[in-house]
Amino acid sequence: MIRDFNYLRASAVKEALDLLEQHKDDYKIICGGQSLLILMRQGLVAPEYLIDIKNVQELNYINFDRKNGLRIGATTTHRAVEKSPVIKKHYSVLVGMEENLASIQTRNWGTIGGNLAHGDPAGDPGPVFTALDATVKMANKERERTIPIEEFFIDYFETALEEGGLLLEVQIPVPPPKTATVYEKFNIIKNEQGIVSVAASITLDDDGLSCKDARIVLGAAAPAPKRAKEAEQMLRGQKLDEELLDKAGEKASEEADPVADIHATEAYRRSMIKALTGKMVKKAWEQAKTSA
Ligand SMILES: Cc1cc2nc3c(=O)[nH]c(=O)nc-3n(C[C@H](O)[C@H](O)[C@H](O)COP(=O)(O)OP(=O)(O)OC[C@H]3O[C@@H](n4cnc5c(N)ncnc54)[C@H](O)[C@@H]3O)c2cc1C
Repeated sequence: MIRDFNYLRASAVKEALDLLEQHKDDYKIICGGQSLLILMRQGLVAPEYLIDIKNVQELNYINFDRKNGLRIGATTTHRAVEKSPVIKKHYSVLVGMEENLASIQTRNWGTIGGNLAHGDPAGDPGPVFTALDATVKMANKERERTIPIEEFFIDYFETALEEGGLLLEVQIPVPPPKTATVYEKFNIIKNEQGIVSVAASITLDDDGLSCKDARIVLGAAAPAPKRAKEAEQMLRGQKLDEELLDKAGEKASEEADPVADIHATEAYRRSMIKALTGKMVKKAWEQAKTSA
């Protein structure tokens, strides 16, 4: 049963920030409602004011240019990302990620901003955006700031959004030459959240053989999307072989901090992280060889 609340709808960023400031003692932002309504129905969240930003069209955009890269406004739906020709061309990993995220109904209504602000460690966009070295822009009445997405995720369902804060935009740079980013989640039921997931981004040297840089990001493997930095370090300067993949996977599974729950034991998650890390690093490496 959902407790009564006052419903307020904003149609511009400024109006939303004003409403958030006015009602900062007891509010919740709602956008697509795909995550929030579940919490409200369960009685876990019962705000006095519900501030609806779904109608804030100035945050509904996908922009790309070769200098600044990609910008996705917070109220952009998953489905818009999935179907964007420019994303398909330059960041195809996001299309694949979206195609396996929930149902079409949820993708049609749920938004990128809502997904990130929800702060679920099993969410799909978090690890992928982190592997793509994204930053996020947010604002409240006091200030606007842009931070690396790694600093945005703090703990289980906790983010760096401040009181009265609105997530505005995700910014993704143009990847360096000879870079490929891939993502996969392991789940039992298709399009459910992953039991674990791994995003890997590999940049190759000019020789096209050795690893210049690597980013490995684990999902559902810690309180927030987690960089496996020691595993990344093992790859830099190396050439690909099975032993290296095995060692990097092992290291990533050690760096993870997974829980045991009804879906999997901790040991099972670690073992899946090892396997998926090896698989994703190999896939990204192979793709990087043919990328411009
Ligand atoms: C059946 C089902 C399956 C799902 N499967 C997956 C899955 O496989 N992978 C996955 O990643 N997700 C999955 N989800 C989660 C869901 O798709 C996302 O969390 C969704 O994108 C949330 O967006 P929303 O606009 O609906 O957010 P809402 O539910 O409206 O809000 C979510 C949270 O974000 C806050 N918020 C929203 N927008 C902003 C903003 N701009 N600034 C600040 N705070 C904001 C709200 O206050 C709330 O706390 C699933 C959901 C359902 C219902």
